[in-house]
Amino acid sequence: MLTPLVLEVKGNSLDDGPGIRSAVFFKGCPLNCIWCHNPESKSFAAELSYDHNTCIGDGTCALHCKQNALTPGLIDVVDRSKCNLCFECTKFCPAKSLSILGKSMSQDELVKKLSSDKPFYDVSGGGVTLSGGEATMAMEWVGGVAKALHEKGIRVLLETCGFFEYEKAEEFMLPYLKNIYCDIKLINEEQHIKYCGVSNKLILENIKKMFADRSKYGYDFLPRTPLIPGITDTEENLTGIAAFLKENGIPKTELLAYNPTWHHKLEKIGKAEANELKDKTSFQSNEQLTRAKDIYKAFGIECI
Ligand code: SF4
Ligand code: SF4
Repeated sequence: MLTPLVLEVKGNSLDDGPGIRSAVFFKGCPLNCIWCHNPESKSFAAELSYDHNTCIGDGTCALHCKQNALTPGLIDVVDRSKCNLCFECTKFCPAKSLSILGKSMSQDELVKKLSSDKPFYDVSGGGVTLSGGEATMAMEWVGGVAKALHEKGIRVLLETCGFFEYEKAEEFMLPYLKNIYCDIKLINEEQHIKYCGVSNKLILENIKKMFADRSKYGYDFLPRTPLIPGITDTEENLTGIAAFLKENGIPKTELLAYNPTWHHKLEKIGKAEANELKDKTSFQSNEQLTRAKDIYKAFGIECI
């Protein structure tokens, strides 16, 4: 059974599904979207994060690095070609500018942590959100967590990119879910390969199956599209997605406004690279969102 690393457990969340929630972000994703909002969750492995905005430049870290990989004063103090990820430096940084991304937890430990906020979930109609990365990459392990939460009466929401083996999801995950949010990013397969690294065929098939099986397993299903300037928010793409939803009887979707904060997250893991979104550093306007929603409305699809 593949055991994932936990990137973050975010408590008291109001924006990862209905009500008050705890959201768990696992490391590892089968896609490689160029705009990834959580780029530090793409890799399965633990990573070293460095935040130059909080660094006070005192040089304590360099005294503890046996690889001579740290040079205080640089924009990125870490020379990633020398760093062997021993994480010794993270223990000494007084500003907590250096930190480990990815923590091992047992299923019991995670379930216990998530269950402690059940009273808040219950009064608010909330629960636990399993996110990523891609939570289904470790289907058996994460499904075990979903099952344990479900048995405690906690509603579980899965946020997924849809790229997984459906039969495995039926065995380990779907029976324990109250909600599924699944991304549908690009309808054109070539574009999907270009911007997300994989074909969208499996994702589109899984979307159809997840929607068809919602009564069988008792969850609500919501497809979602992140609006990425010039890539997913084009009239051609949104029209294609709306037509796909209509054709498959899916009545409702959510559009997610572009959030440019991923640029800074990439810098923190030393992976900032120039791509065609490098100048897209502002949030989407309400006018752009309304224009996108109007495309769906023309197909009779409700947009939230
Ligand atoms: S110890 Fe922390 S605050 Fe000091 S230079 Fe290193 S990264 Fe910056
Ligand atoms: S993780 Fe280890 S090798 Fe890498 S910079 Fe920190 S102390 Fe040096």
